Amino acid sequence: MPSEKAKVIPVMVALRCRPLIEKELKEGCQPCLHTVPGEPQVVLGKDRAFTYDFSFGPTDPQGEVYEKACKTLISSIFKGYNATILAYGQTGSGKTHTMGGCYEDSLTGDEEGMGVIPRVLQDLFQHIQDKEDIEFSVRLSYMEIYNEELHDLLCPVAQRATLAIREESNGGIKIQGLREVEVTSFTETMRHLSEGSHGRTTGATAMNNTSSRSHAIFTLNIDQKKKSDMNDYCRVKFHMVDLAGSERCKRTQAEGDRFKEGVNINKGLLALGNVISALGDEGEKRNHIPYRDSKLTRILQDSLGGNSHTLMIACVSPADSNIEETLNTLRYADRAR
Ligand code: ADP
Ligand code: MG
Repeated sequence: MPSEKAKVIPVMVALRCRPLIEKELKEGCQPCLHTVPGEPQVVLGKDRAFTYDFSFGPTDPQGEVYEKACKTLISSIFKGYNATILAYGQTGSGKTHTMGGCYEDSLTGDEEGMGVIPRVLQDLFQHIQDKEDIEFSVRLSYMEIYNEELHDLLCPVAQRATLAIREESNGGIKIQGLREVEVTSFTETMRHLSEGSHGRTTGATAMNNTSSRSHAIFTLNIDQKKKSDMNDYCRVKFHMVDLAGSERCKRTQAEGDRFKEGVNINKGLLALGNVISALGDEGEKRNHIPYRDSKLTRILQDSLGGNSHTLMIACVSPADSNIEETLNTLRYADRAR
């Protein structure tokens, strides 16, 4: 089993701009962000240009985002790399849509609307079927970080306890007590995912009353063994993360508990930005990657940098009313490259 030696692989960044939504159209919002045809570039306002590894505009379908930016990670995991896909952006920018909020749709056959997660699962199980010489075992887990506390989304709400993170002697990260469910098909996996998603913490903010204030981390643990040589063995993790809204607390008029949430949410996103940007540094500076600064970065520690491939999909609204948050996201994503 080819398990390639650790070398640093930079984080890839895709920028995705959604169409104006009905509410924005009703309010008379104008688009203030444009993609540049044929270039992985976007322009904010008249002349503020940003370049990423990929950029997707309002008319680019789900399938294209997957084929161009995400699919290579599937080959990575079969080569023995860990992989991570993160969706970043303010509430309402399209993170859940991009990652695969349409769980029910994908079960009822809305193939076009399917987001990244169901597409990954389809390809994964197809590949497993095709590779007759290899024995696979796939286990999934699904957790959320809310207020810097870790919860198991596959566990009934009433029984949910705060989970602790442990670092193993080999540098691997283990979450104590986290459920891992063995899965063998697309439909079965989607069912677990859908059930877990219903138990996600959402909080009403002034901005969007269904906004998700937590980071949701969906993980596939994949074991691969050669049937002809059971010692030829490799184990990888594939994380797919729907991050909490990146908007500033002030904007959502957060108070009390909500404000505390905002602070903790930003702690994770801030730490994530610092980790990703430290990974891109050369020489000396790369010796200290600040994984320990938040729960989010600790959990992703063995899957960000080192022997792993990471894609961040930065989601933005094109509306002029969101220009400030859009600029924040463009800058955050720029720093991640
Ligand atoms: P977030 O998870 O970032 O808060 P959502 O994924 O819930 O945002 O998206 C907000 C709204 O915009 C939803 O109604 C969603 O269907 C719509 N939307 C987001 N991205 C797109 C897109 N690329 N094309 C069409 N509609 C989209
Ligand atoms: Mg969402």
